[in-house]
Parts: sequence; C-alpha cells; structure tokens
Amino acid sequence: MIQYFDLQRYNDSFGDDLYKAARQVMRSGWYIKGHEVECFEHEYAEYIGTRYCITTGNGLDALTAVLSAWKQMHGWADGDEVILPANTFIATALAVTRAALTPVLCEPHISQPTIDENCIQQLITPRTRAIIPVHLYGQMANMDAINRIARHNHLLVLEDACQAHGAIYNSSIGLQLASLFGRRAGNNSDAAAFSFYPIKNLGCMGDGGAITTDDRELAERVRAITNYGQTTKYIHDCEGFNSRLDELQAAMLRVKLPRLDRDNARRVEIARYYSTHICHPAVELLPLVDDMSHVYHVFAIRCKNRTRLQAILARQGIQTMIHYPVPIHRQNAYRQFATLQMPVSEAWADEELSLPISPATTDEEVMQVVDAINQNIY
Ligand SMILES: *Cc1c(COP(=O)(O)O)cnc(C)c1O
Repeated sequence: MIQYFDLQRYNDSFGDDLYKAARQVMRSGWYIKGHEVECFEHEYAEYIGTRYCITTGNGLDALTAVLSAWKQMHGWADGDEVILPANTFIATALAVTRAALTPVLCEPHISQPTIDENCIQQLITPRTRAIIPVHLYGQMANMDAINRIARHNHLLVLEDACQAHGAIYNSSIGLQLASLFGRRAGNNSDAAAFSFYPIKNLGCMGDGGAITTDDRELAERVRAITNYGQTTKYIHDCEGFNSRLDELQAAMLRVKLPRLDRDNARRVEIARYYSTHICHPAVELLPLVDDMSHVYHVFAIRCKNRTRLQAILARQGIQTMIHYPVPIHRQNAYRQFATLQMPVSEAWADEELSLPISPATTDEEVMQVVDAINQNIY
C-alpha cells in the first residue's frame, strides 16, 4: 500500500527529537504564550525574511486576522471586495466572508494552478481593496505581475502561503544563492498567511498557523486581534478573537523547521522523477518547476479519465487525492456564485489528480506509481 502521505513514517524520521521537545514543554508547566512560541516566531520570521511573525491557531485564522486588521486600519466597509482564485481551498474564501468582505473569484492559468494575473484587472472595481494570490500546490503565483497590478490600483496583497513553506520566488539564480538572497513565499507582498496543519510542508501535531509581514502596525494589530483584541492585559482596543499557537506545537515546529529546505528539495526530486518518467496518452503533465519556486506540496497531473485512473491506482494499492473536486463557485456554501462560468477552474476540478508525495516517499514507491500510470489503459 502506498499512502498519499505517510505522516507516521515522516514524523518517525525525526527520531526522538519530537518526543523530547514535547516532554520538555509538558514538564515546564507553561502551555500558552511562552518561550517556545516566542523563539519559533523569531526563527520563522528570520527564515522567511520578514521583520515580524505572529503565530495563530490555524491558517484560516491567519488569513482572517490580516483582512480584519486591514479593515480596521484602513476603514474598509462591509462588503468591500477581495480578489482570489476560484480553484483554491475554500479557506481562502471563508477568510474573506468571515471578515464581512466580498470574495471576487478569478480564473487560474490553464497549465499552472495559480491565479491568472491577466484576468485580475477586469475584476477591479472602486470597491476592490486587496488581492489574495494563493501559492497553490506549493507553486508561487506570479508575484511581480500581481504586485504591479496592486500598486497601480492601490490594492493590498495578502499571500496565501499555506501550501508553500520555504518556496523561493525567482530562484533561477541557483539554489545556493537563492536561499541566501531569494524572497521566500510569505515575503513577497504586504502580508502572508501560513498553516501548519500536519501534512503541510511544515506541519505540527495538530492545528497551527502564522502571519508574516514587514509592517509593524499590521503586526501589532494582528497580534491584538488574535488575542481578544487585547493590547495590554484586560484592555481591549479593538474587536478580536482567540487564535493562538500553543507551546507544544511551537516546540514541534522548532524541531522541523531546520529540515524544511532539505525536505522540500526531496519533494522537488520526486516531482522531477514523476515529470520525466510518466508517459501516457491520457495523462497531461504540468511543466516541471525545479528551481524551488515550487515546493510540490501537491504533485498534480491532469487526466480526462481521472475517475478510472484513480480507481485503477487504488486497486494497485496506490492512494491518490483530488485538489479540489468542487471549485468555490460550485460549493453550496457559496450559492451566490452559482451562476458564474469559470471554465478553467472547472477543468482543474474535473481533471486534477494528486499523486503520492512526501519527503518520506521512497524511490521505489515513486517508480511503482509511475509504472502503474504508464502500464494501464484508462
Ligand atoms: C490549509 C490551507 C488553508 C487553511 O489552513 P488551516 O490551518 O487548515 O486553517 C488555507 N489556504 C490554503 C491554500 C490551504 O491549503
């Protein structure tokens, strides 16, 4: 049986370190807002390259907190508009509606899962306030173009980096130089949101999230909003909620962060093997991006006979996933968008199949998956 992501095997690869870190926190008698969180925030900000990192309870809260903070800081009205891709995970849209703003859905590229920057301009109205590019599947959106459109139209940009921990924009300068001078996902716009859900490229043993930014005012506001709107103890200057990373999770993340680059490099290696060996008339491969601007959170292929392919692989013990079977405008939760025609997003939803990939996936498993795809009829 080849699991889509063998989380147990992956976590075992850290040996005793995760247990040691957990034990230390449990013995400390201090579980919320302590030393581990403080250290992790410094270490993650330094890794991403931003001045500030504020941790949260999950990725959805990280996205929501930034939008709520901007709304308060800039006096945005309820119903003001935020542009996001229609093929993203629903959390990106939920953050917008939770902040009482209006999602405006944009098509992605055909051969790249990220938002099509050429479709953004026509969606901008006098009420547009922000764009949320999503680094979907681990591939960074075209940030130069998106930032240019944003500057030109006085919009803010929030990166949804929940699938792209460690990705480096424009890293074609070579990996060595890129990791020194490149701009990581989360450091290419006004603010970014991360999730540390267990199977993300950097994941903890439960829920977790973070915001990165260089903007001091935003950092302070977000820190208050995620802690009941509190600025000093029992003094509440704005309306907030409670969303915090706990000490146990921060301790786990501090064990895992130093290995993130190596683990991402292994994902790229697997992607390279899939890309150069899968060959079947019914399978459409996406262009290989092997310069770390794609950290292959998901290895996606497209197949018009996806249902049959998925069933054949399952029969051979190979677990696959679909990211995502229903685009936002076709979800019952968002009936107001049901009349939208978004053929590119719909094609992604109908044809995408995600192959097994994790830093712990073995060469043998990857070869088995390739053989199963190449040697069957569907
Ligand atoms: C995982 C994810 C989120 C939400 O993160 P949670 O921690 O599960 O709340 C948001 N956006 C994208 C693109 C994600 O993949």
